[in-house]
Amino acid sequence: MPKAGARAALLLFLVGCISLALGACSSVKAAPTDRQAAVTPSLAPSPSKSPAAHTPSPSPTVIRVGNATPAPRWLGTRVLTTGVAKPTPPELRNRSIITVDDLPPPADGRFHATNRAVPADVLARSTWTKGCPVAATDLRYLTVGFRGFDGRAHTGELLVNAKAANDLIKVFRQLFAANFPIERMHISSAADLNAPSTGDGNTTEAFACRPVRGQSAWSQHSYGLAVDVNPFQNPYQKGKVVLPELATSYLDRAKSRPGMVAHSNAAVKAFASVGWQWGGDYRSLKDYMHFSANGG
Ligand SMILES: [Zn+2]
Repeated sequence: MPKAGARAALLLFLVGCISLALGACSSVKAAPTDRQAAVTPSLAPSPSKSPAAHTPSPSPTVIRVGNATPAPRWLGTRVLTTGVAKPTPPELRNRSIITVDDLPPPADGRFHATNRAVPADVLARSTWTKGCPVAATDLRYLTVGFRGFDGRAHTGELLVNAKAANDLIKVFRQLFAANFPIERMHISSAADLNAPSTGDGNTTEAFACRPVRGQSAWSQHSYGLAVDVNPFQNPYQKGKVVLPELATSYLDRAKSRPGMVAHSNAAVKAFASVGWQWGGDYRSLKDYMHFSANGG
């Protein structure tokens, strides 16, 4: 068992977080994979050091992978008023959550990508409708490797404009090579898009058929020509509006933490290598998660 894991188990135990368990991630729809189930759980602190030494209840189990931890049980469950910024809960101020796989991770741990026409079932579970400003035949379905905060290789999926497909594979290849961590990457459904806000989402994605925030014009996401990277570590801010609402801690861009986009790390460079621009460079607002082909 890694020493870091033992220290974390002890710390979490002492502060009373005794209920974390395998598969406790409430924000994740997919079941834990066999690979995750095979992770060796950290052991409980020894009874001589434990304030609960006389309690005969089962030992608390804390699963860690590298420096990553499971999501708090409450993640994705606490509905709040959309757009109203809130303090970041302590558990998320250095967010480093183990990725739960939506797609099988690469067996060889290396970067892989696929690029194909959008399968009917994928289109059906996406936000695409005939009212969107892009034809379904002008979109492509990509799978790309990404590095999780757990340091492991995972497979994500993206719906993108056909014009940008090869460029975006190049971008995610660079992010993988640079070990830039991404928590989760999958295609949002209409239900996801319309769900009441919980202010703690962190899905990296491209196509989403929706207007620009606070406007009626179509977003570049509606054309598959924009990508949001780790929204929680890279929130949107316009005046008092912050999205995700609980990500206020990450408005402090001088305090560098894993998964944050910056000129000084791989993320801006990777997108710039294919000519895409960063919303962190906007002047009237900041959209730190956002990259687009035309700067819009
Ligand atoms: Zn965006």
